Order: sequence, then structure tokens, then C-alpha cells
Amino acid sequence: MQIKSKIAVVTGGSRGIGAAITKKLASLGADVIVVYAAGQEAAEEVCRFCREQYGVRAAAYGCDVADFAAVKQLAAEIKKEFGTVHILVNNAGVTRDGLAVMMSEASYDAVLDTNLKGAFNMIRHFSSMMIRGREGRIVDISSVSGLMGNPGQANYAASKAGLIGLTKSIAKELASKNVTCNAIAPGFIETAMTKEVSDKEAAVAAAIPLGRMGKPEEVADAAAFLIGSDYITGTVLRVDGGIAM
Ligand code: NDP
Repeated sequence: MQIKSKIAVVTGGSRGIGAAITKKLASLGADVIVVYAAGQEAAEEVCRFCREQYGVRAAAYGCDVADFAAVKQLAAEIKKEFGTVHILVNNAGVTRDGLAVMMSEASYDAVLDTNLKGAFNMIRHFSSMMIRGREGRIVDISSVSGLMGNPGQANYAASKAGLIGLTKSIAKELASKNVTCNAIAPGFIETAMTKEVSDKEAAVAAAIPLGRMGKPEEVADAAAFLIGSDYITGTVLRVDGGIAM
């Protein structure tokens, strides 16, 4: 699919990987919609950058993706303002790390609700626009934790593994409507989420075959590739320096 002149929604587009994906899609000529939780200023800044740098339309919307009713309302507002949506990137995610034997119910639920149910909520309320337009691209940002498991991340790994099942089911449900759905499984990427990890950079780098953490832009390139493809659906693309081989 040609990305130019399409309308893209990126959840968690206010910073980190989501901001890089938003800017990449804008650089390819898409109008971009940034969905954020609390970081309004950062989201507005990403939008301002996209408008000034690439001359596209860009707008920020505050919405908790875990809230089914709020996402329904968000989809209605965006449809009213933009008419339709062609691209959805489910990138919003959180961690609440801890060993499973000690983990609170709240920590488990918060991560599953945002990372997994949030993606479902977005697909549930936005895919009808793509189906009607007979054209759509959905990219879900999973994680190598969802492929391999990770001690201290039972909730996070479960949410990210669940996202892969969601991705493949949606890919099968929507293929006949020319809507593809793919997942990306990043490894260690330099963002606020991995700040503590990157402080121990040498140890992390030693565990990664390519010898360094990844950059948000490297995940954004993969997202643009999957969105641009007309014949890839239901796949999980690792962007991880080889760590999950
Ligand atoms: P950041 O913590 O830097 O950013 C998270 C983004 O998600 C923010 O924009 C935040 O918005 C948004 N967000 C969080 N909760 C909600 C919510 N309930 N509703 C709407 N938006 C929400 O994360 P990264 O950029 O590092 O990660 C992005 C994605 O990539 C996540 O899904 C993460 O799990 C995944 N990932 C990251 C890896 C890494 O190494 N960094 C590795 C593998 C996967 P706000 O600014 O308003 O808080």
C-alpha cells in the first residue's frame, strides 16, 4: 500500500518507538494521529514536528486505550474529523515488572489491559473504517518477551504473546477485505521503557548478537515496511539484533 496521503493512527505516539513510527509515516506522506495517555505536551510536539517538517495533517488525542468505551468515542471523533483511517499501529504499552509469585493483581491487570485489551479495543473500533474502504494495515508492537518469556515479566510476556495470537486471528479475519495485520517483536530498544536496562549497557550488548541496543527508528523502518507490503499478513517480524534467534 502506498503510504502517501493515507491516514494513520499510532497509539503511544507521543514518545519512544511510537513517536519514531509517527514521524516515519509522516515522512512518507501520511497524515498522522497520535494517541497518548498522559503526555499531551510530548504528543503535541510530535504533531508539530510532523506538520512543520513534512507538511502533513497531524493531531493528538488523549485516550486510555484500555477503556473500551473511550476508544469507541475516540474512533467516532477521528472519523468525524478525518473521514476514515487506513493504518493503525498498536504501540501503546506499559510494564509493571516483578516475579509472578509476588505480583499484585493490579500489576497483572494493568499490563494486560493496556498492552493486549488496548490493542483489541483499537482494532474493534477502527477496523470497520478499513473494511469499508477495502484497504487497511494494522501493525501490533509485541516484544521478544512474548516469544521467549522473561523472568520478572510474566504479565508483560503474557500480554505480548497474546498480542501475537490477536494479530494472527485478525490477519485471518480481515485478509479478504484487503486489511493486513502483522506484529513486530522488538528486542532491547533505547527508550524510557528500557532506561534502567540501558544503564547496564555493556552487559545488555553482550547478550545481543549484533552487539548493541536498537533505536526506535529501526523499529519504525520495520513498521513502514510492513505497512507498505501488500502480501505480508499474520507475520511476526523480529527487530532485535538477533537476541531471540
Ligand atoms: P515508552 O514507555 O517510551 O512509551 C509508551 C507509550 O505508550 C507512551 O506514548 C504512552 O503515552 C503510551 N501509553 C501507555 N499507556 C497507555 C494507555 N493506557 N493509553 C494510551 N497510550 C498509552 O515505550 P516504548 O516506546 O519503549 O515502547 C513502545 C512499545 O514497544 C510498547 O508496546 C512496548 O511494550 C514495546 N516494546 C518496547 C521495547 C523496548 O525495548 N523499548 C522492546 C519490545 C517492545 P504517554 O506518553 O501519554 O504516557
